[in-house]
Formats: sequence, C-alpha cells, structure tokens
Amino acid sequence: MKCDMCKNEVNDGVQCAGCKRNLDYSCAGISETGYRKLGPERRAVWKCPQCKLLRTYPEEKSITDAIHTTRILMEAHRNDKKVLYMVFIDL
Ligand SMILES: [Zn+2]
Ligand SMILES: [Zn+2]
Repeated sequence: MKCDMCKNEVNDGVQCAGCKRNLDYSCAGISETGYRKLGPERRAVWKCPQCKLLRTYPEEKSITDAIHTTRILMEAHRNDKKVLYMVFIDL
C-alpha cells in the first residue's frame, strides 16, 4: 500500500475511519504492536491524529493549523507519550 501522508510505499499500515486515508504506522502516530492490540472493533473506528485533532477543535483552528499541529504532535509522540499529552493540552 501507499501511505497517503508521506507517499511512501509501505508493506503495512492503518486506515483512518475519518478521512479513509491509508497511513503507515509512523505517520499514523501508532506502533504496529499498539495498533494490533486495539482489536478489530477499535481498529474499525481508529482515526488518524489529524482527524482526532479536527474533532477536538472543529472551528477554532484552520485546517492548515491542524495539519501543522499534527506534525508537531507526531514528532513529540515519537519521543515521549507524556510530551504528546502536554503539547496537546497546551493548544
Ligand atoms: Zn507515511
Ligand atoms: Zn483521518
């Protein structure tokens, strides 16, 4: 499959229930093991960081802002989950 965010060809990834894009695990901000642990029901409603963000801030933020913020969140996620949380509530 092809990741719809970074356009890289990847073996495996996740599909967002919101925007229906296919994302590789790093763009999805989730580890492969983490995703598998979700189970079929939660995987079926899984949303990418961008969709989660748009749901949280429907009108206050422009889409460009949301995309930009998503990138920051994903960077933080790679380093430390606690950082992700702090960045998120800081918005
Ligand atoms: Zn990607
Ligand atoms: Zn999405």
